[in-house]
Amino acid sequence: MKLYNTLTRKLEEFKPLNPPNVTLYTCGPTVYDYSHIGHARAYVINDLLRRSFPFLGFTIKHVMNITDVGHLTGDDDSGIDKLEKGAKKYNKSVWDVVKFYTDYFFKTTDALNILRPDIVCPATKHIKEMIEMIKKLENKGLTYETEEAIYFDVSKFPKYGQLSGQIVKEKLKGARADVYVDPKKKNNADFSLWFKRVGRFKDHTMHWDSPWGDGFPGWHIECSAMSTKYLGETIDIHTGGVDHISVHHENEIAQSEGASGKQFVRLWFHYNFLTVNGEKMSKSLGNILTIDDIVKKNYDPLALRYLFLQTHYRQLANFTWEALTSAQEALKKLQNIAIDLKSQIYGPDESRKTHGYRQRFVNALADDFQIPQTLAVTWEMLKSDLSAKEKLDLLLDFDKVFGLRLIEVKEEIIPKQIVELAEKRKIAREKKDFNESDVLRNEINSSGYSIEDIKNNNYKLKILK
Ligand SMILES: [Zn+2]
Repeated sequence: MKLYNTLTRKLEEFKPLNPPNVTLYTCGPTVYDYSHIGHARAYVINDLLRRSFPFLGFTIKHVMNITDVGHLTGDDDSGIDKLEKGAKKYNKSVWDVVKFYTDYFFKTTDALNILRPDIVCPATKHIKEMIEMIKKLENKGLTYETEEAIYFDVSKFPKYGQLSGQIVKEKLKGARADVYVDPKKKNNADFSLWFKRVGRFKDHTMHWDSPWGDGFPGWHIECSAMSTKYLGETIDIHTGGVDHISVHHENEIAQSEGASGKQFVRLWFHYNFLTVNGEKMSKSLGNILTIDDIVKKNYDPLALRYLFLQTHYRQLANFTWEALTSAQEALKKLQNIAIDLKSQIYGPDESRKTHGYRQRFVNALADDFQIPQTLAVTWEMLKSDLSAKEKLDLLLDFDKVFGLRLIEVKEEIIPKQIVELAEKRKIAREKKDFNESDVLRNEINSSGYSIEDIKNNNYKLKILK
C-alpha cells in the first residue's frame, strides 16, 4: 500500500513495524463546543482508513484521545484553556462541558457510521502517565522550569521542525505583541509541558498535584503519553488535520523522541480541511454547520458521508447544500440498487470478472487511498453485465470500506390496510370517481404514506418522511 508521508514529503510503500498489525493513533476532539461537519470529515477519513486496513489484509489497533484539559486558545501557550472557555460560554461546570460535548461528538460519529476506536482515552484519566513522561524529559535535560510552567526546550532537540520543514530560528523570533507570554520563556517555540496554578491560571478549575506543584498538563504531552501507553514507543501511523503539523505534531515528536530516543511515528497522515461554499468555517461568518443542521433539513447523515467519499483526503473539500442533495440522490440510488439486487434470484458464484473489479478497488485503495476512485469502480461494476449475486456480493464487500450501511437497506414494508385503500382508489379511478379517489388519497396521506400514479392506472406507495 502506498501512502503519502508528511514527514518525508513523498509517497511511500507502507509497511507496518510488525506486520500484519498496524498501530494507528488519531488526535481526537477538544470537547469544549459542538463538533461540526469539518470535524466530521476528518473522522470519516480516519474511519475509511481504519476500515481499509482489514480489507487489505492487515489487522489494526486504533487509539484516539479526548482532549479535556490543557488545550489553550493560542497554539503558542497564550490565552486560556478552551475547556474553561466553554464552561464560561455555556455557564456550566467544566466537567459538564466535557461530558456534554464528548457525547455530542460521539452522537455525530455514530450518525455517520464511524466505528469507535479500539481505545478512546481522555487526557484527564492519564495525568500520571503524563507526569512520568515529563519527569523522563526532565532527567534528560530537555526541560526548564519557570515560576509559571515547565517547558520543553526546543534548542536541545536538533530535529525540531522536521515535520513542517520550518527552521527553528524563525520560530525563535519574538512572539506576537498582543498575547501574554511567560517572560522567562527562552525560545518562542518552547512549549509548556505543565502549567502551574499561578498567575493567569490561579483559578484554573482542573488541577492535580505534581513534582512541580499544583497545576495541569499542557496540551501536547497527552498524545505522546497515551500513544506510548497503548501503542508503544514507535507507532505505524499517526493521523490528524493539516493544521496540527507545524505545532502540535512537531511538539509530539519532540516529546516522544526526546523521551524514548526512538522514532515516534513511521508515517504521518494528514487530511485537508472542509470549506462551506468555498469559505473557511468560522463563527464570524456564521457558517458553522453541525450534524443537527443536516438532519433538520431532512438529509440522511450518510449522505454527508457519501459526499466526503467524493474528495481525496489531501484535497480541500467543499460543502454546499446542492452537493449534499446530489450526494443524497446518489446514495438513494445505491440503496435502491442494493434492494433490487437483494430481491433478485442469486446466480452462480464469483467469476474472474468480479475478481477484476475487486482488484481495481484494492489497487485504488493501495494508491494513496484513492477513495473517489473506488467509488467510480463501484458504479462501473454496478452498470456491468455481472449477475445480481456477483454485484451484490461485491457491493456489500466494498461497503465494508464505505460504511454506508448498505447491508441494512430493505424495501419499505407497506401495511395491508394501506394497500387495501390504494386498491379501492384504483377501482374508483377506473370508474372515474375522482371525488372518492381524492378522499382515499387523503386517507392514505394522513396515515403517513404517499401514493404516486404510474402507467396503466398502477401506483407506487411510499412512507412519508
Ligand atoms: Zn495529538
